[in-house]
Amino acid sequence: MRKLLFVTGGVCSSLGKGIAASSIGALMEARGFAVQMVKIDPYLNVDAGTMSPYQHGEVYVTDDGAETDLDLGNYGRFTTAKLSRANSITTGQVYKSVIEKERAGEYLGRTVQVVPHITDEIKQRILAVASNPEVDMTIVEIGGTVGDIESVPFLEACRQLIHEFGKQNAISIHVTLVPSVSGGEIKTKPTQHAVKELQEVGIQPDALILRSTKPLSEGLRHKISLFTNVEEEGVISGYDAPTIYEVPLVFYNQKLDTFLLRKMNVESRHAELGKWETVVQAVTKPNCKVKIAVVGKYMDLHDSYKSIWEALCHGGIAHHAGLEIEKIDSSRLEDPNADLGAVFKDIHGILVPGGFGERGIEGMIRAARYAREHGIPYLGICLGMQIMVIEYARSVLGWQDAHSTEFNKSTPHPVVCLLEEQTKIKNYGGTMRLGAYDAITRPNSFARSAYGTEKISERHRHRYEVNNDARAELEAHHLTVSATTPNGELVEACEWPNHRWSVGVQFHPEFKSRPTSPHPLFREFIKAALSHSES
Ligand code: GLN
Repeated sequence: MRKLLFVTGGVCSSLGKGIAASSIGALMEARGFAVQMVKIDPYLNVDAGTMSPYQHGEVYVTDDGAETDLDLGNYGRFTTAKLSRANSITTGQVYKSVIEKERAGEYLGRTVQVVPHITDEIKQRILAVASNPEVDMTIVEIGGTVGDIESVPFLEACRQLIHEFGKQNAISIHVTLVPSVSGGEIKTKPTQHAVKELQEVGIQPDALILRSTKPLSEGLRHKISLFTNVEEEGVISGYDAPTIYEVPLVFYNQKLDTFLLRKMNVESRHAELGKWETVVQAVTKPNCKVKIAVVGKYMDLHDSYKSIWEALCHGGIAHHAGLEIEKIDSSRLEDPNADLGAVFKDIHGILVPGGFGERGIEGMIRAARYAREHGIPYLGICLGMQIMVIEYARSVLGWQDAHSTEFNKSTPHPVVCLLEEQTKIKNYGGTMRLGAYDAITRPNSFARSAYGTEKISERHRHRYEVNNDARAELEAHHLTVSATTPNGELVEACEWPNHRWSVGVQFHPEFKSRPTSPHPLFREFIKAALSHSES
């Protein structure tokens, strides 16, 4: 079959192209097609790994250790596509490999140019994913907005692929904005211009997804169809839904998927959307409520902890519980006069997520201590687990100066220190302990009872680890090491003794959670928080 679906954006950024692309993927999977997803990021960074979470949101990690754009996280939540390094293409990667080939003399003396050399490299990378014989459809999302200087070579590659594959095998879906001005009047002009801009680079969209706050009328869709040469059936109202997980249903109700299948000359199949309906039901009509505090660093930008918010939501879905999330900037808790009792009043669970750098660390340590001493369920992720260990060493072992060497190089009690393999590394990009590693959970631990299995595999992104020189002493004081690497050498999870529920993990379970299959740790964390709220 091998079909390509290109998703582009017009008018402005942050329209939810990623959610639109993912929702189309979800719908195609619901109809039994095997889907793959590719994200193109037109920036010059080779990957997102070196970018500040404030700049570009969370860095999403794949099993094979690629540090990618957070849209891959959306693909992973909406579809079951196996995502790897190949699913994330950046300008940096494309130029890097073309320049390397040039240096190696592979172009045989020819002048190396954007067209065809850069565009060929882009096409090759897209086809490397799409040509997998097990894949029916590949959805390619082009980041940025049509009209940006950076995306020109990608749009040209996309135009060429549509030309080479033929309209039935490669189609274009353009996501645009339909704003309303004061008085509520709805404006179609930005969309008309956005479509013109796409047509100028030689691409006629087959479908339009119009982002707006409210559903758009048929009259409006008719008008836009007239101005853009897009069939009326392909003009879809992508209005704001109460939850992003409703978007596949919003598209389905407007028959976007059957329209796309007709365009690609693919026979439609039965759509199985029951699990999406259940998810929407659980999010929009919860039976109970639970309040979770997330104490972290990058709190101003929602996208910095994107997968954490989503995984928490999934934990809620597992119990039909509505989540109220209190975002707490950990530096707020550093003031010795900060009243933690007031901050955590009515909080049923505390989560300390990942992070880098010293700011706010003492605040996280105070939050962990509060959770430990007050029996509040605690989930520590990566840095959040290291915080758990530092706090335990200080409070229980009495090592007041215990720290991670990330924050204090000369501490006499380095309970968290650099991984051996990290000590020689000079380059920043792609050099952490990255991607999926197996771990072994220990019987009679919260971790084991959540996973239900001895062997697990989770994704990592860190340079530091629990110091093995301190491990015996920590365990002698009853800190439970509840998971290790298979050779027993690295601590992968730990728990407080005699606590209602506490798990700290050196990895990132949030990357593997789906609304349709909540991650076991988030599911059990929310369960513990619910039972705490009832007590
Ligand atoms: N900064 C810590 C480390 O490198 C934690 C990383 C994280 O939370 N992802 O080990």
